[in-house]
Amino acid sequence: MRILIAEDDVTSRLILENMLTKWGYDVISATDGNDAWKKLQEEDAPKLVILDWMMPGMEGIEICRKIRENLKSEDQYTYVTLLTAKESKENIVTGMDAGADDYITKPFDMHELRVRVRAGQRIVQLQSELLEAKNNLEIQSRTDPLTGVLNRRAILSQIENELSRAKRDNAHISISMLDLDYFKKINDTFGHLAGDAVLRESMNRVEETIRTYDTVGRFGGEEFIVVLPGAKQADAFTIAERIRLKINEKNADVDGVSIPFTTSQGLATCNGESTVDELIAKADEALYRAKENGRNRVEQASLQEE
Ligand code: GH3
Ligand code: MG
Ligand code: MG
Ligand code: MG
Repeated sequence: MRILIAEDDVTSRLILENMLTKWGYDVISATDGNDAWKKLQEEDAPKLVILDWMMPGMEGIEICRKIRENLKSEDQYTYVTLLTAKESKENIVTGMDAGADDYITKPFDMHELRVRVRAGQRIVQLQSELLEAKNNLEIQSRTDPLTGVLNRRAILSQIENELSRAKRDNAHISISMLDLDYFKKINDTFGHLAGDAVLRESMNRVEETIRTYDTVGRFGGEEFIVVLPGAKQADAFTIAERIRLKINEKNADVDGVSIPFTTSQGLATCNGESTVDELIAKADEALYRAKENGRNRVEQASLQEE
C-alpha cells in the first residue's frame, strides 16, 4: 500500500522512509506542507498519510482540515496520522478535532509506529471494499441482469431526466419502443435459453449502433426502450433504421445454431412538453402499427409541432 509522509526534518523523514519501506509500504515523501498538499491533490493520491504537525508552508493540521473539507461521498477515505512533538492533551484534541484519525508523538517508538500504521491500513482497506460494494450495488440496482442494459426503473428515470433537460434547453427528445418479432416462436422453436441469448445479442447490436449519449433499457419481457436525446423525428428514424438493419445483418449464432430474428420499433418525439407516460403511450401506439404493417419495420407517432 502507498503511504505519504510529510516531514520537514531530514532525519525523521529518513527514519520513517526506511522503516515503512522495510515493512513493505510504497513510500512517497513530501518535505513541506505545500508539497504534501500538492501530492494529495494528484489523482490516485495515497490514502494513508503521515503528516508532521509543524512544517514550513501548510501545517499538518491545516492539511488535515482541507482533506476533510474536500471529501466527497464517492471518494475513498484518507486516513491521517499526525506526527507531533507536542504531547499535551489540548494539542491532541485540536489535532483529532481537525480530522486526524490518529497521532504519533516524536521521538517515536518503532513498534508503536508499525501497529498504528497497520491499523490505518486496515481502515483504508475496509473503506475501499465498502465503497466498491456500494458501487457494485448501485450498478446492479440499475441493470437488467440478463442483457446488461438499464432495467425498467433506470430507463424510465433516464427518460424523465432527458425530458427535463429537453424542456430546459428547448431541445427535442425521441424514444424508440423496440420489440422482438414473433419472439414466442423463437422460444418455442429453440428453447427459452436460446431465446435469452437472442435477447442478449439484440441488445449487443443496439448498443453497437446507438450514439454515446443514447441509452437503452429493458421495459419488460422482449420489449426495450432506446432514449435518443436531441433527436428530432428524422434523426430518430435514421437511428432506428440503423438499429433495425444491424439486427437484420445476420442471424444470431447460439451454440452453433443459427437463429433469425427481427425487431419492430415505434418512435415518439417531443420537445420536452410531454410526460414519460404520454411519450411511451405514443411510442407504443406506433409500435402497434409497426406490428400491424408487417413487423421488421419502424413506425413513427403522428408528427407533433416542432
Ligand atoms: P410479436 O411479434 O407480436 O411481438 O410476437 P411475440 O411472440 O414476440 O409477442 P408475445 O407477446 O406473444 O410473446 C413474447 C414472448 O417473450 C413471450 C415470453 O415468454 C417471451 N419472453 C419474455 N421475457 C423473456 C425472457 O427473458 N427470456 C425469454 N427467453 N423469453 C422471454
Ligand atoms: Mg516539522
Ligand atoms: Mg414481441
Ligand atoms: Mg412484446
